[in-house]
Amino acid sequence: MSDLIFDNGEFARAGKTLSRELALADLPRVASEVLGGGPVQFVLAGGVDRLERPYLDLGITAMLELKCQRCLKPMPFELDVAARFTLFRDEERLDEAEAEDEELEGLVFEHEFDPLNLVEDEILLSLPFSPVHEACEAEATPVADVVPQKPNPFAVLADLKGKLKRGE
Ligand SMILES: [Zn+2]
Repeated sequence: MSDLIFDNGEFARAGKTLSRELALADLPRVASEVLGGGPVQFVLAGGVDRLERPYLDLGITAMLELKCQRCLKPMPFELDVAARFTLFRDEERLDEAEAEDEELEGLVFEHEFDPLNLVEDEILLSLPFSPVHEACEAEATPVADVVPQKPNPFAVLADLKGKLKRGE
């Protein structure tokens, strides 16, 4: 748990804002999934929506280094996440709301809410499953250039016919 623990319901209703710059070392679950990068900037802003539901808006930006799954070399990855989490009293209400609105992401009220957990979850969800350089050096060479082409049997036949005609 980080030292940033707060009551997320109070935070949202009071419209508070929290922003921090973190090192990857502050986010061990993320650090184990990437080669390097950082710092990670995040902003969390509370509010209440038109349905009187408290929410947390989360924004995260960072330059990370992922391992290209084709050449296994580092590749830069620009992380830019923005998400809204609507707060609910319990999991049941949260599930109901999520079933009604597929776009909705939610959390339950917590007196001891750790924003770094949420930041880590969101980053992990945003990382590409199988990152590959846009122009990877190890771009697969077209098969035709690598595998010696078998001579086309019809071409061989035509060639043979030609030879026979010429009496070779
Ligand atoms: Zn690559």
